[in-house]
Amino acid sequence: MTSCIFCQIIKGEAASSKLYEDDICLAFMDIQPVNPGHILIVPKMHFEDLSDLPSRTGSQLFQVAQKIALIIPKTDVKCEGINLFLAHGEAAGQEVFHVHLHVIPRYEGDGFGFRFGPNYANLPERCDLDLVAAQITQQLER
Ligand code: AMP
Ligand code: ZN
Repeated sequence: MTSCIFCQIIKGEAASSKLYEDDICLAFMDIQPVNPGHILIVPKMHFEDLSDLPSRTGSQLFQVAQKIALIIPKTDVKCEGINLFLAHGEAAGQEVFHVHLHVIPRYEGDGFGFRFGPNYANLPERCDLDLVAAQITQQLER
């Protein structure tokens, strides 16, 4: 048996509350929701993170997330907004190393949110922004 909990869910070897599936992906309820209605969308094949995720599969994850995000407000779930969230790497908060896209219903006062670092209030110089932008553009054009 695989040690990956999401592969176990996909194979039906672990319990889940599924709400959608197609050839490429599966959506189910997060077992420890940030807010009620928190959903995970995962590829049916095991990809660890963005580095091995085929772009077609990534596109499908996003398309399904968009569809579900627009449906949630039509249900009984308290939802005034939605966050889509994907953690790539441990430092970014990834705990399960099978790619997953979070769909998180949000509402005023839900207590969830990003915590900003101490330098957040100090805006960088334009030249610093341009420098990073240029480095990324250079890599994109390789
Ligand atoms: P991340 O920190 O982005 O890797 O998120 C992992 C998410 O997977 C967390 O929100 C967990 O609550 C969720 N999770 C872990 N195990 C299960 C499970 N068996 N069924 C549903 N969700 C799970
Ligand atoms: Zn897996």
